[in-house]
Amino acid sequence: MERNPVVSSDAIELAPQRSRIFCNRTLNLRAMHAIGYDMDYTLIHYNVRDWENTAFEHVKRNFIDQGWPLESLRYDHELMIRGLVIDKELGNVVKTDRFGTVKHAFHGTQPMRFEDIKKVYAQVVVDLSADRWEFLNTLFSMSEACLFAQLVDLLDASKLPGILGYAQLYRKVRWTMDYTHMEGRLKNEIVSNPDRFVDLDPEAPLALLDQYHAGKKLLLITNSEWTYSRKMMSYAFDRFLPGNMTWRDLFALIIVEARKPAFFTSRNPLFEVVSEDGLLRPVYDGMKSDGIYLGGHAGQVEEALGIEGNQILFVGDHIFSDVHVSKDVQRWRTALVLRELEAEVEAVRGFESDQRRLAELMERKEALESGYSHLRLQAQRLKNGYGPRTGDASLEQMQGTMQEVRAQLQTVDADIRPLARASAELSSTSWGLLMRAGNDKSQLARQVERYADIYLAKVSDFLVHTPFAYLRASRGSLPHDPGRIEAQDMVQSVDLALGGSRL
Ligand code: IMP
Ligand code: MG
Repeated sequence: MERNPVVSSDAIELAPQRSRIFCNRTLNLRAMHAIGYDMDYTLIHYNVRDWENTAFEHVKRNFIDQGWPLESLRYDHELMIRGLVIDKELGNVVKTDRFGTVKHAFHGTQPMRFEDIKKVYAQVVVDLSADRWEFLNTLFSMSEACLFAQLVDLLDASKLPGILGYAQLYRKVRWTMDYTHMEGRLKNEIVSNPDRFVDLDPEAPLALLDQYHAGKKLLLITNSEWTYSRKMMSYAFDRFLPGNMTWRDLFALIIVEARKPAFFTSRNPLFEVVSEDGLLRPVYDGMKSDGIYLGGHAGQVEEALGIEGNQILFVGDHIFSDVHVSKDVQRWRTALVLRELEAEVEAVRGFESDQRRLAELMERKEALESGYSHLRLQAQRLKNGYGPRTGDASLEQMQGTMQEVRAQLQTVDADIRPLARASAELSSTSWGLLMRAGNDKSQLARQVERYADIYLAKVSDFLVHTPFAYLRASRGSLPHDPGRIEAQDMVQSVDLALGGSRL
């Protein structure tokens, strides 16, 4: 990774280099007394394809044990991305823009045609708080969504007797996913072969060491079980820590089976983990400022550390459980880890010059369309003998120019088409970029800007900014900002040229 050179005062302008932490709301890391971390897909990144494939196979086996004919199903890693929404009523998976308008959809494993999407969803706004929808919040959702889509195909082909509809089918999938994550066999396979499943990041422990030595209280708050967490953290961290230090020394508080999001909303019973193999002792008088606990709730963390919610930064990958609820309910500051971001930023960067060309062509298209509309209005006024006129062109001349403009529009459209397609297929051929839906922001982008103060691809990206950084949000743009007005002015002047002097 790029690292800041150790700087002399006249070299200070060398820092900071390219931002690795993206900031929605200004966040002063110096003011954070504690930094809490989620574990799975946050402190520990998995090889998603292998983890999800294994989860898929375990869920499939649990279905087969119940008599379902699923032997031929295979996990398809390209089928789904995070941020999609399952439509439990219709057996679809959709991608929406920030307003909840459906932009792409699959029925089962097949893409829906544009006309069908319009027919089905023209009147529908996807409201994530309604029961009909299930947002894919985390990379753990990939196997679930893939399985659901394949089961929809089987249900449509009448191969799942006894299942009465997509909603019932989804409930079965959800229940079996839950069961599979909890029964132990899946986790045993991961723990017994971490080399295969864990994508080690040698710099994540260094980022935490920096924060630890800068005086931050570090917290681990995971939904995973103690024995799993202990083995995985030890595997991913101990080898990169200095001397005899272990991962346990980094954290003031370790909370396992935290039951997020309930950890932030309800008062779950608290237990202390009193032995290495996870023996529990109930605790009635809250947490101490160091210890290993199971359950409990966010308020107890604040009490134990003697700090307010807005002095705790919580870093996690689950958009609802880690980021949405911790901010909404507990007012913690929040950081979302979006591992896919690295590849996305790379893809967008690789497309930069084509994107510029596309924007130029779109500007030209808009100018031509606007010019055409003005011509049409001029012709209408002339024909009906009312209103002011621009220039002294006859109706025939106007119609001739309109034909010319139409031909130009066709040429521009032909140039736009391949670029627009390539832009829509960046990152995923079926779904496009995570944070975009067409030209607009996606539902996922909306969630991120609403609930995550900052977002980053991985924990080690904190290294670029140091524990002392003041992370500032950019000003953001509005449709009426001057740059945008100038673009509109340009369109207007082309209109005038077409509607006036050229006629
Ligand atoms: P965390 O991200 O560190 O809080 O831990 C996530 C935990 O939730 C892991 O132990 C996962 O196995 C578990 N998990 C992920 N998806 C599901 C699910 O659908 N049902 C139940 N547990 C899940
Ligand atoms: Mg997680």
